[in-house]
Amino acid sequence: MGAPLPRRVALGILAFGGLAAPAYAQTSSRRPGARAPDTRPTVVLDPGHGGRDPGAIGVRGTHEKRIVLATALDLKRRLEATGTCRVGLTRSRDVFIPLSERVAIARRQNAALFVSLHADSAPGARGASVYTLSETASDSLSAALARRENAADAAGGLRLPPVPPEVQRILISMVRQETRQGATRLANLTVGALRPRVPLLPNTHRHAAFAVLKAPDVPSVLVEMGFLSSPEDEAALLRAEHRATLATALAAAVGDYVARPGVGIG
Ligand SMILES: [Zn+2]
Repeated sequence: MGAPLPRRVALGILAFGGLAAPAYAQTSSRRPGARAPDTRPTVVLDPGHGGRDPGAIGVRGTHEKRIVLATALDLKRRLEATGTCRVGLTRSRDVFIPLSERVAIARRQNAALFVSLHADSAPGARGASVYTLSETASDSLSAALARRENAADAAGGLRLPPVPPEVQRILISMVRQETRQGATRLANLTVGALRPRVPLLPNTHRHAAFAVLKAPDVPSVLVEMGFLSSPEDEAALLRAEHRATLATALAAAVGDYVARPGVGIG
């Protein structure tokens, strides 16, 4: 394949069956005095767990669901104060939301990016880390099975134009590639923003098949802000000042991302 199509063009083709111009190219015929549409990108923040699912529980009894919600609300305020993006939350209170619904919320809001916040348990581990989706399979048979499954999954979620299946596969593959590149760029920006501010887990950017990162068209990262299984991390995460430092770093990374959405892998 040649140079990748810009993300919004590929998404425009998917959304409009290849007939309409991409959203940013459309001209407006608003009435004078009517409010301009809000074209700012939407960032969806996802505080993990909630309700009957406390997430990890620290040695001092700290519930992950509380730490991540407090940080997400802080981050939302900081991002909204910049005026550069709209901010959605998958939950704003102590309620259980299934993983698939978290992904669906981001897609319904046409999110430009998705940031899932966690502070899980990992014996012996300490420090913040960032995860993107990995599609690396252990062997070729599994890879072929996954390809078929993933194509079916994508077709169930994306609005595909009435074009031959081969063209649909190419469109899906382009959108997934753009999404992966966006996620990698966001992960790199996030690690760069965290590095000078908080202790990090070695090999800070990691990959895993987190279900919550599987939106085919929304660049998604999962941030482990630290591990509640570490007494040091738990003590830090209990301090509002430390959570504010994390939120400041994440706001900087998201701000850099939305300021230059078209820039390649950074
Ligand atoms: Zn978690």
